[in-house]
Amino acid sequence: MECKCCGSCKIKKNGKSLGKQRYKCKECGKTFFDTKPKFSEELKQKAILMYLNNVGVRKTAMFIGCSRTTVTNWVKKAKEKLDKKLKKLRLIIRKRPILLSWTKYIHMFKKTKKSNRMDCLF
Ligand SMILES: [Zn+2]
Repeated sequence: MECKCCGSCKIKKNGKSLGKQRYKCKECGKTFFDTKPKFSEELKQKAILMYLNNVGVRKTAMFIGCSRTTVTNWVKKAKEKLDKKLKKLRLIIRKRPILLSWTKYIHMFKKTKKSNRMDCLF
């Protein structure tokens, strides 16, 4: 089982409410119940993939059979997870001097892209 908020596996039992077991996440501190999710992880991934392929929130929600807000929340959470992973990755890169030039390269690329001078990179 994992935290419904941050996806962490570090959870502990946190009393009962209305006969249901309540859990608490050790990482983000959120409490939640062990309820079965309405939509499977596979369906969520499909929705996110559709959104990323410019299907649009409205059409994606119609296809999956959920609300537009649900799709938006899934995308938001997926982005947050990715941001966290990227942050970790950046920390690893920073610790490795060999790869440092790559971050500089990406930074340079971003700069040139902004000023529409992509050709000067190649
Ligand atoms: Zn959590």
